[in-house]
Amino acid sequence: MKGIYSKGVAPARHEKQSFSTFNRGKVKSMSRQRELVDILNKWAHEYYVLDNPTVSDKEYDALYDELRKLEEESGEVYPDSPTRRVGGEPIKGFEKHTHIARLFSLDKSVSEEELTAFLTRVEKFAGKETEYTVEYKFDGLTVCLTYENGAFVRATTRGNGTVGEDVTAQVLTIKSFPLTIGYKGTLEVRGEAVIRLSVLDEYNKTAAEPLKNARNAAAGAIRNLDPKVTALRKPDIYFYDVNYTSDGAPMSQTTAHEFLKKEGFKVYPYFAVCKSKDEVLSAVATIERERKIIDVLTDGAVIKVNDALLREEMGSTDKFPRWAMAYKFEAEEVTTLLKDVIWQVGRTGKLTPLALLDPVDLGGATVSRATLNNYGDITRKDVKIGSRVLVRRSNEVIPEILGTTEHYAHSKEIDKPTVCPACGAALDEIGAHLFCPNRLCTPRIVAALDHYASKNAMNIDGFSESTAEQLVGKMSVTKPSDLYKLTAEDLAQLEGFKDKKIKNILTAIEKSKTPTLDAFIYAIGVEGVGRVAAKDLAARFKSMENLQNATFEDLIALENVGEITANAILAHFADDETKAELAALAEAGVQPVWSDEKKEGVFSGESVVLTGTLTNFKRSEAQKLIEERGGVCQSSVTAKTTLVLAGEEAGSKLAKAQKLGIKIIDEATFKAMLEE
Ligand SMILES: [Zn+2]
Repeated sequence: MKGIYSKGVAPARHEKQSFSTFNRGKVKSMSRQRELVDILNKWAHEYYVLDNPTVSDKEYDALYDELRKLEEESGEVYPDSPTRRVGGEPIKGFEKHTHIARLFSLDKSVSEEELTAFLTRVEKFAGKETEYTVEYKFDGLTVCLTYENGAFVRATTRGNGTVGEDVTAQVLTIKSFPLTIGYKGTLEVRGEAVIRLSVLDEYNKTAAEPLKNARNAAAGAIRNLDPKVTALRKPDIYFYDVNYTSDGAPMSQTTAHEFLKKEGFKVYPYFAVCKSKDEVLSAVATIERERKIIDVLTDGAVIKVNDALLREEMGSTDKFPRWAMAYKFEAEEVTTLLKDVIWQVGRTGKLTPLALLDPVDLGGATVSRATLNNYGDITRKDVKIGSRVLVRRSNEVIPEILGTTEHYAHSKEIDKPTVCPACGAALDEIGAHLFCPNRLCTPRIVAALDHYASKNAMNIDGFSESTAEQLVGKMSVTKPSDLYKLTAEDLAQLEGFKDKKIKNILTAIEKSKTPTLDAFIYAIGVEGVGRVAAKDLAARFKSMENLQNATFEDLIALENVGEITANAILAHFADDETKAELAALAEAGVQPVWSDEKKEGVFSGESVVLTGTLTNFKRSEAQKLIEERGGVCQSSVTAKTTLVLAGEEAGSKLAKAQKLGIKIIDEATFKAMLEE
């Protein structure tokens, strides 16, 4: 028996656990302690892994208490003692850990055609039909557990596949994985930490703050600095892969599955071995059907070549193994009642309808609001208040309404508003959209100030939406140029503004007087001019003066400016109040700077589109990094696009890039390029 703890308290209470040297003298007197550990572990395995309890909680607790007492007396705790599985003290931050072997992510397919194409590729490579395994793809947080000399030593998140975060203290609160195993080499196994749907329901019955979605709940439980919170949420881990063994023997998927089971890891019972393409498709269909009734949130199926040698021959691309494929099911759809529609006023005065829904569970998340684009969208989809609508969770944050499934006697038409809900001004109708023409309409000013100060615009640190609200409400600030007139006395009247904060914000406002030209163009908030178009405009016109004198033809010649935006730009600069405001900003000392410095780097010559969610970068950060290295960012995939950076849940842009045969890189490759 190796590695007995030297301290007299439960070692999980310490942030770092180190094994003491083995103390032979005491072991003899500890035979009862050893026996208790073995019995309790057997019972826990029966309860948590086999789902087949053989004793009552009372019997378990009695022996557990006896063990605790013996551990205190002896001052020794076995590494596989169940008392280790308690939440320790909160930690300050997650330490980074480099995985022994890279944890690959899987290539994804979203249609039967794509899946069939994968199976055909494999068959072609192998020269004959081959064997596959099909398993559930669980939607939680991937974790990697390391064992050395038969003992559990560490748990980490997948992270970017190369480097993850140490979550040992958190994972130790989970009771269903073995602390010791028979295999004595170095081992890394991979599993998905999940919160079972029934456990989530139970938790939410009494929780002060109910958790909305099983996936976020699992990630939030494991990546929680306080292991006690992890323990409360009762996550579980299903294991599905042997990522590394020190003897390096290649394993087929069936061998790995058997190995995991034999060593006491919890595997999901459904595991299909398929001898042909048709069998794979039918197994995938089974999962698609069954996933709605099982107790774990899933978003797809994983198909792997079973043969270990064939896997080695096929190898991997720089992103994915060529022998495996994740099949993602379509975003789920559900119907619910539409309770109301509210109209929100944006910074340009544009009104956007927001649908309030009877809360409904959709793919593990509770959905209570959905987007509608404009009034035309409402009529086209025949949406009425009180009717039943079809909602889809898309890759976007807010779900969308696809259409109406049923009207009722009490269903009510949604009136097209004629006046602004905020200020009562009569609305203008321009194209498909409604606008509040009142420049002093409060939500408009607040949104415009908030936008002006935002990170990608003037980047005024410490300025929030609430700051904007207060400035509009209490200081009668109505336009960005007013910000430069604010004094410390003014700001002192705002809630939450003390000396230091006042000083910081005044400094930040002062600092914003020399923005880059593109940030300034973006900040002034022309309808349709996002960050990418602003960069385009800055690069082409090089000064505000040139931009203000640009013609329609000049503008539409730019790649990221269409006819509608070109007209919006012309109208914006033709407007007297805009002219006055630009003059006021110049008067206040705001001087945008155009720098012609050509950036050179690994992205030189590349026109890059970002899509999906990146794990380690904010989108704006990634864009900045690309631009600093010579690349040009685009907002959508066009014939000029040369590179697509695809994060998680990448949607239509990725599909379009694939269709056009544009080079696609994932986040790991992106990171590697940054380091070049
Ligand atoms: Zn208004």
